[in-house]
Amino acid sequence: MAEYDYDLFVIGAGSGGTRAARVAAAHGARVAVAEEYRVGGTCVIRGCVPKKLLVYGAHFAEDLKDAQRFGWKVPDAPEFDWKCLTTNVFAEVDRINQAYTTTIGNAGGEIIHQRATVSGPNEVTLADGTKKTASTILIAVGAHPVVPECPGHEHGITSNEAFHLDAVPRRILIAGAGYIANEFAGIFHQLGSHVILMNRSKEILRGYDLQIRDRLLQISMMKGLEFRFDATFQGIERGEDGCLTVSMSNHEPVTVDTVMFATGRLPNTRGLGLESAGVEVDELGAIKVDADNRSTCPSIYAVGDVTNRIQLTPIAIREGQAFADNLYGGKATRVDYDCVPSAVFSHPPIGAVGMTEAEARQKLGSVRVYSSDFRPMKNVLANRDERALYKMVCDGETDRVVGIHMIGPDCPEIIQAAAVAVKAGLTKAQFDACVALHPTMAEELVLLK
Ligand code: NDP
Repeated sequence: MAEYDYDLFVIGAGSGGTRAARVAAAHGARVAVAEEYRVGGTCVIRGCVPKKLLVYGAHFAEDLKDAQRFGWKVPDAPEFDWKCLTTNVFAEVDRINQAYTTTIGNAGGEIIHQRATVSGPNEVTLADGTKKTASTILIAVGAHPVVPECPGHEHGITSNEAFHLDAVPRRILIAGAGYIANEFAGIFHQLGSHVILMNRSKEILRGYDLQIRDRLLQISMMKGLEFRFDATFQGIERGEDGCLTVSMSNHEPVTVDTVMFATGRLPNTRGLGLESAGVEVDELGAIKVDADNRSTCPSIYAVGDVTNRIQLTPIAIREGQAFADNLYGGKATRVDYDCVPSAVFSHPPIGAVGMTEAEARQKLGSVRVYSSDFRPMKNVLANRDERALYKMVCDGETDRVVGIHMIGPDCPEIIQAAAVAVKAGLTKAQFDACVALHPTMAEELVLLK
């Protein structure tokens, strides 16, 4: 009889856990996956997927306006049905949730629809009290939104609840100015809300290239979004009419219908029983792992947001794949975290890969920067006064392209392809050697002066 119930017990069926479970099972391991909520995790159920669908839905507001300049007769005030959009989005989420579930099952993994916690180096305890043993445990439980401490914070929502609002709020205050804040600010603004973004610091999208985020800020303000910087919560009060009045430092109070917190995400390690196996976490609660995803307990590994390396779905998937290939497939693999492309699905969106200009100047000293600041053809005909900005950062010594940063229509689609070239270490001369594809926006990348 086998020493343990399973070769691998995965806690969490999000992007990382599902990939690890499926690949390990395909390599022949006896695998179980415990999931307390829905298979698919944050990305599928309440993150990237439904958010992107809302972004598409919201963008029709601009498209319908622009369509008139392209000869289409559109009613002056086209009607929007939030219930229709969210119902269709949830149906798509259900479809992917089912596909993930089937994938694990088809590979031979067993799904246990319960919360599991660690109760020893080789043991987990399920919510119903059952204990299961495994030679290896993989923790892939993700992260949760942070809600800042302030009186009345319970009146606010997070991105988890944003998808389930009964209606589009007339006025919404979004706290934070990172990915989630800017993406939902764009969505709600397009859908007709008056949006106020409030951030503790003086900037939006810390970490992105300065000129690119400044462009987003300018365009957002031009569209009517309001910003409150250097602002920390003092309190949120609900009035008799149901409205919320938010008091903050350095600014007058504002009254809105909804307050949404988008102030970062922290690993879901609380109450997970990690101390029972000697699994160490850092000051933010993230599981400490080595380059092979192994924690401080030799039989316990962790992948994805719970390790707080780069909080992106494709990273969790690669970590899950590498873990399973290493342990069960006999393939030594490590995730390469260099040159990971990223995007903010704001209106307009941002795409980036590699070093920002500031990082490159600090790390390389000699840097050459090329840029193109242009009005996309479609915006010109649409009379839309919204300029795109592309920046290429090159090593001044070698001519190697070390970063590309862009804001404008379809940038996330363009940056994925450009990232291949940056990752491959191509030079500016090699970009220029490629003939432009005209007329596109992406052709600017090979025409930069
Ligand atoms: P981000 O880290 O992007 O932004 C957090 C924002 O909240 C910042 O503006 C930060 O201010 C502010 N903030 C942080 N802590 C506090 C606090 N205690 N009180 C007040 N303000 C605070 O987090 P998000 O929540 O937007 O997203 C979480 C993660 O999810 C991201 O890091 C990203 O990796 C991932 N994600 C990726 C997406 C994508 O790829 N398109 C989309 C959505 C999420 P400041 O930095 O100015 O000090």
